[in-house]
Amino acid sequence: MKINEKLFAYPWRDYRANNGNSYVIRTEEAVCLIDPGLEAFLPQLYQSMEEDGVQQGDVNSVILTHGHPDHMEGGITLGKQGVRVGIHKDEEAYIVEMGPYLAKMLGIDMPEVSFDFFLEEGELLIGGERFQVIHTPGHSPGSVCLFWEEPKILFSGDLIFAQGVGRTDFPGGDGNLLKQSIQRCRALKPAMLMPGHGEPIFEADAVEKNFDVIEKMYFDYI
Ligand SMILES: [Zn+2]
Repeated sequence: MKINEKLFAYPWRDYRANNGNSYVIRTEEAVCLIDPGLEAFLPQLYQSMEEDGVQQGDVNSVILTHGHPDHMEGGITLGKQGVRVGIHKDEEAYIVEMGPYLAKMLGIDMPEVSFDFFLEEGELLIGGERFQVIHTPGHSPGSVCLFWEEPKILFSGDLIFAQGVGRTDFPGGDGNLLKQSIQRCRALKPAMLMPGHGEPIFEADAVEKNFDVIEKMYFDYI
């Protein structure tokens, strides 16, 4: 699904499988895939990308909002094929420490991981476009959100969704940190929200309202 000239969104609509949303940022210089999802669904993702005119072979970087397999696993596969894969340093440490336990909880095999670059709080250039990496712990210790400065689009991973927030009951989750992270993102006044699960939100007013709903519905309980 084309969102603008440089952004393509692939929301996962089959709720029988726990797969995440993927996003592609394509400029003349770079094609970056955010959260490729589970390995098993990569062929479907590639097909959808191709329908939008984005070739799988053009992807030259992967950004992982966090290390849960429903976001990361396909990224590890791409990494083995030579694509550069980035994640926050705290998340790498978390995966190494908690991976086997997490895998058991989720009933899956945890892939062996290796990363090519680390996402740090602050500015990040993707194909000449300016993004901010925002370290947003709460769902996991090294979760990040990406904020695309010019169109003010927030990629929120599993921090927030339309009408929801990321779970904090996984190992490494922390409700207070989640709330602080949400407020940091709210202060950016995003014009669109591209979450890690569920439908994107395309208007600033609706994004703002969604923050209201989240604070009202969840902040007393997390
Ligand atoms: Zn997650």
